[in-house]
Amino acid sequence: MTTYQGLLAAIVPAEGGRDIMDPATGEVVGRAPEHTVEDLSAAVASARGAQSAWAALSHAERSDYLNRAADAVERSAEALAELLSREQGKPLNGPNARFEVGACAAWLRATASFELEPEVLVDDEGGRAELIYRPIGVVGAIGPWNWPMMISVWQLAPALRMGNTVVMKPSEYTPLSVLALAVVLNQELPADVLHVVSGGRDVGESLSSHPDIGKIMFTGSTATGKAIIRSSADTVKRLTLELGGNDAGIVLPDADPKAIAQDLFWGAFINTGQTCAAMKRLYVPENLYDQVCESLTEVALQMPMGVGLDENNVLGPLQNKAQYDIIARLVEEAKASGARVLVGGEPESDQPGYFYPTTLVADIDNDNALVTEEQFGPALPIVRYNSVDEAVEMANSLSVGLGASVWSSDPAKAREVAARIEAGTVWINKHGAVDPRVPFGGVKGSGYGLEFGVEGLKALGTPQVISY
Ligand code: NAD
Repeated sequence: MTTYQGLLAAIVPAEGGRDIMDPATGEVVGRAPEHTVEDLSAAVASARGAQSAWAALSHAERSDYLNRAADAVERSAEALAELLSREQGKPLNGPNARFEVGACAAWLRATASFELEPEVLVDDEGGRAELIYRPIGVVGAIGPWNWPMMISVWQLAPALRMGNTVVMKPSEYTPLSVLALAVVLNQELPADVLHVVSGGRDVGESLSSHPDIGKIMFTGSTATGKAIIRSSADTVKRLTLELGGNDAGIVLPDADPKAIAQDLFWGAFINTGQTCAAMKRLYVPENLYDQVCESLTEVALQMPMGVGLDENNVLGPLQNKAQYDIIARLVEEAKASGARVLVGGEPESDQPGYFYPTTLVADIDNDNALVTEEQFGPALPIVRYNSVDEAVEMANSLSVGLGASVWSSDPAKAREVAARIEAGTVWINKHGAVDPRVPFGGVKGSGYGLEFGVEGLKALGTPQVISY
């Protein structure tokens, strides 16, 4: 049976490298290799060399490899979850580490199962035109630190399925998780179709400007997404950009506060709030305001936060100090503005990890920074509204549009409101529920391009029309 120590032994360099700390305890998890721009070039050359043989396989053969890679993930699931929990901080239980590893296997299998048929556009006496998708070549994948394994699979699975080879650049905060995942996947994949280069921002920049990379799959902040657009311009790369979000949830006046409280909570606090499509601001009508605040507080008080390896915990630390400081600053500013803290807001200063308590902030203005900036942590502002029109206007007032949600006892009414919101996905009576069959992507500053499903496969191919 693989252990997390066994996985680490396969990735830790013989000498050199950089210590990676457990954000819950401050202990060293392991040493990550520090790859350079030269290492990146070597990886791209190797992936390029392997690409034509990989592309020559049939879809069925590549799908078979993805299914076997999913088997490998399942064989090492507990070791991967433990390493992920130690490095990222997320608890084993709840919608966290074990859930993330399970999602890796599920996404690999789902991606293996989709059918992308040639599309017949015209077929009449004048001729025939078909749309097909050819492999792009070598795809670069650059990821964040919040869901490092799952997002890597979101990027690599459709890329491989479409006949591309892949070079990944994980976040410098969570390289071990992605390196370990690749070790496991490479137990089943042919040599050199999947590489991981564990370096810093310079390696990311070099990947996005590399002449032999045909496409970048990027998930991360809006600022980095803009930098990648610029650095990929000279080589005219294809891009899928999954960027930051600041998702609104709108509770309609007919909702049942008690019935929705648990789902509202997890919509906002999944992965301790460090999720791109988490609910980051909640709009509640006057008639339900106190009830929603009370029900959410009740749920929040029941959710244990602590070290991820403790089986009781469902909330963990912030992954890094910079993120902790953002949350602490935003909550302090909210308090100073006169907003009311319902629960949390007072971190303990004498603990080793980056724990910030689950925090709900009421009576806060829509222009407060805790509402307008992406907090990416466990602090939810609850904004009061008077009319549904006003709520929709406030939801649409920011420059990002990843997800949103509408909460109501009347799904038809909720659907009408959903259609007015500027976001790539609007959920009704849930938030952030992604599904490998359902396309996912942002609008406005949250990026462009779709992941998942057949649309996600198309994004990893070069469209070609054959006309005769
Ligand atoms: P980040 O943008 O700081 O870093 C992401 C990755 O980009 C890292 O691997 C980093 O090394 C690399 N990078 C940094 N500068 C680069 C450059 N100039 N060129 C190329 N690569 C570069 O993001 P983060 O802090 O790791 O992640 C948090 C952000 O990601 C949040 O804004 C969150 O909303 C967003 N996110 C979005 C999604 C989504 O699906 N839309 C999912 C998860 C996270």
